Amino acid sequence: MIVQRLREIQSKHGFLPDRELVKLARETNTPLYRLQEVASFFPHFRQEWNPPPFVDVKVCRDMSCHLAGAAELLQGTHGLKELAKDGVVVAGTSCLGRCDRAPAVCVSRHVEGHHEESFHDRVFAGLSSSDLKKTLTAIVKGESPEGTSDRARGIDRSEWQIDIYARDLPGEAYAVVKRYLKEFPAVVVIPDDVKRDTKKFAEFIKTNHPWLAKLDLSNLQGMGGAGMKAFEKWRDVWAEPAAVKYIVCNGDESEPGTFKDREILLHMPHLVVEGVILAGLITGAAKGFIYIRHEYREQIDAVNREIERARAESACGGKDRGFDVEVFESPGGYICGEQTAMIEAMEDKRAQPRNRPPELQTNGLYDKPTVVNNVETLAWTPAILHRGGEWYAGAGKPNCKGRRIFSISGDLNASGVFEVPVGTTVGELIEKAGGVHGTLKAVATSGPSGGFLPARLPVRKGVMDRLDRAIARVRDPLEGELLKDFAAAHLLRDGVEATFLEIVHLPLDLNFFRNIASAIGLRDVELMLGGGIVVYNSTRNMLEQARNCTQFFRNESCGKCVPCRIGSQKLVEIGTELLRRRDSGALVLKDEDGTPPPIPDMLWEKLGDNLNEFAKSMRLTAICGLGYVAPNPLNTAVQFFPDDLFVPKPNE
Ligand code: SF4
Repeated sequence: MIVQRLREIQSKHGFLPDRELVKLARETNTPLYRLQEVASFFPHFRQEWNPPPFVDVKVCRDMSCHLAGAAELLQGTHGLKELAKDGVVVAGTSCLGRCDRAPAVCVSRHVEGHHEESFHDRVFAGLSSSDLKKTLTAIVKGESPEGTSDRARGIDRSEWQIDIYARDLPGEAYAVVKRYLKEFPAVVVIPDDVKRDTKKFAEFIKTNHPWLAKLDLSNLQGMGGAGMKAFEKWRDVWAEPAAVKYIVCNGDESEPGTFKDREILLHMPHLVVEGVILAGLITGAAKGFIYIRHEYREQIDAVNREIERARAESACGGKDRGFDVEVFESPGGYICGEQTAMIEAMEDKRAQPRNRPPELQTNGLYDKPTVVNNVETLAWTPAILHRGGEWYAGAGKPNCKGRRIFSISGDLNASGVFEVPVGTTVGELIEKAGGVHGTLKAVATSGPSGGFLPARLPVRKGVMDRLDRAIARVRDPLEGELLKDFAAAHLLRDGVEATFLEIVHLPLDLNFFRNIASAIGLRDVELMLGGGIVVYNSTRNMLEQARNCTQFFRNESCGKCVPCRIGSQKLVEIGTELLRRRDSGALVLKDEDGTPPPIPDMLWEKLGDNLNEFAKSMRLTAICGLGYVAPNPLNTAVQFFPDDLFVPKPNE
């Protein structure tokens, strides 16, 4: 495993010395260019540092950390930069997954030849600027303060349903796996004629594989973003005739605003490990991997301990079970959350998304059929297979299916992680998080990927006609019912079509988000729902926040395709130019009557249209989701917050 060996070398030397790469190339019989290819791709690996810095300080600069003053920490005269001397390096980095305790800082110290004085990736979160300075000064002087523990966070899980071992099966271990093995000691074989006939295959699952049928009935959707049914992934890999198959649990979780998997991995690793084992047993896989970002040190340790416990319980590994599980420590990078990019990283390559097809279900890890599921998706499967698919499908709010876990942060009184029934509204979730600190201005419902939705979302004329068409399109009648109920409650006022929609009323249901977007009549904006939600109050300028998000996408673009590589940089330039013009005041001051004057030159006059065209070209030509969504923050800022492009007059 080249990636893991590079990590070891970097831990020992603080960077990747050439001589060590040559040695590794010889030992592993790998061409040196292959090692260079991997080492130069991941920002975590450093080749250019010789000697490495004594103390390396990385400040998270994304979304919630940006709201908490990360830019000031990096740039301000009173920030951490003043410590950057005598071997101390201070720089920005992408999301560290501690958005609930922003700002977060990751610190490493390297003392050549003194391993015991060196440490890596210690995260300090939620400290004030002065406390951070004190901590860093102590580290420079040789003290070794522990990082901020995620265990100490104390998330209230008393209402959570996901952990059956805390509720139905206290004191038992791997009860679901053990029960499954009693019923199915071997993988269920699918007759060839059944595989070729979709109807017969569906019937065969109902009668011969009731456990898989439970997963189908539950309607469990992927929690990683795309929302594909877990049942379909498991079924397709099970049906593949290959002798070797894999299960990969995606615990990369690098999207700004998202930290729910962090809590699951730390507090309920038994559910994740059991979910991986169940997927392996049902599909007939040879091995499972749990891919976790390297900044989640406590979580990696917790999962490793749990795998040992599972082995001791004969749930995996050893002589009794062929199927085993191991942790793959991610070298980092947002793009590793894209499932094909993650697979590339696991194969010791640059984490660049693959062109598809072929899909992972046929050609995944090492070209073998592979199930890739998110941490939360897998963690729900023991409960579903224990309690039944109907239980999960019926656990949502009226006309919604299931439960899911959200992380929510930003301008809130009590950021955190909450398990709620699907269909809980944006407003209810905000209330759970202690309410908005100030007045609600905007919500990012999918980290930076979906851009920003205003507190009052404009609704275009003709909404009821478009809604009828949306209802006609949906396959599940419940989805249609939800749309109808929602329209009656929030899109009609005294029989008249509403002109805006209060965002707090939106039910957190992925299918609803997809269905309602076209009905509202949003221009070139998709309503996206992810696991990480960020809330903004009225003091925030959304153009400035949008520039911050486009910088994130630019920094994390893997560079494989031109539209995203160049386009994401262009978006940053547009955002920066708009801010420059706004701040200069001369071109964008509001008129006497309060209306903004037209932006004078051709490019800016049709800014919204130009941005939409730009977004469309990126969507049509980029290889992966990062390129599709990168324009959303700027696009939504311009579309929904036009006032933020303009500087008010001083006396306003
Ligand atoms: Fe890489 Fe961006 Fe292309 Fe995705 S869209 S493959 S992140 S360059």
